[in-house]
Amino acid sequence: MNTSYRGRFAPSPTGPLHFGSLVAAVGSYLAASIQNGEWYLRIEDLDPPREVPGAADEILRCLDTFGFAWHGKVVYQSQRHAAYHAALEQLQKERLTFPCICTRKVLSGSPIYPGNCRHRQGAMEQPHTTRLRVADKRIQFNDRLQGLQRQNIAKEVGDFIIQRADHLFAYQLAVVVDDAEQGITEVIRGSDLLTVTGRQIYLQQQLQLTTPSYGHLPIVVNPAGDKLSKQTFAQPLNSDQPAPQLWYALQFLGQAPPAALKDDSLSEIWRWAKANWCWHAIPSQPKKTTTLPDQ
Ligand SMILES: [Zn+2]
Repeated sequence: MNTSYRGRFAPSPTGPLHFGSLVAAVGSYLAASIQNGEWYLRIEDLDPPREVPGAADEILRCLDTFGFAWHGKVVYQSQRHAAYHAALEQLQKERLTFPCICTRKVLSGSPIYPGNCRHRQGAMEQPHTTRLRVADKRIQFNDRLQGLQRQNIAKEVGDFIIQRADHLFAYQLAVVVDDAEQGITEVIRGSDLLTVTGRQIYLQQQLQLTTPSYGHLPIVVNPAGDKLSKQTFAQPLNSDQPAPQLWYALQFLGQAPPAALKDDSLSEIWRWAKANWCWHAIPSQPKKTTTLPDQ
């Protein structure tokens, strides 16, 4: 068993899984399977107000129904605050952070943080976010599916938030700490997260963590061109019909499963997918003619 490859799927429990989540899960799962690697699950329940009670359990049941098998215990971000806090303290000790009291109004119309509070130091009583002081340097990585990516965080994003005013840790910080803790060697996920990858790599460098490889899959959009999500009222996956939906997910990923396979068993479709997985066939962007499964 080659256990040097470690992949992961990390859904947020804001609602049931939809076809877009299935595509991301299938991509990361097959990437791990064909390399005899391990595939881990992480529930990204970092933001309690956005969560739907019972959604995390429903997600796990749904993944099980679709035939996914994961390694070890499921990691819940809600139980990892001590680790995030330790990372924040490490950055604070190295004077890489500062408190920011800019209101939304002050920052409105400015996609790049203008550095208003950069000069601030130390603790602060009044409500504030904590930002990472970003150096003017280029982050570069070779995405398995989207090719060479370059970003200068200072110029394109600015000093970014790592802890919110309500004390919740920012997604970028939590993900970086968790990927390192779980020993993830490759992150396969939707390309809606391509633009934040630079920030995550920058954080890994500040925390002296290993940077995994990245591959960003095409995201599934509805006919109006919006990413499938709870906000765009994406249909939940139908757990009564996993096989044809898995077939459609493979087709979306450019894998050309035979038509007859659609009516076959779940295990036959998985068997075919593992035997025929082809990275080069995955489109970098979704094809205009994408067919979504009827549900
Ligand atoms: Zn500020």
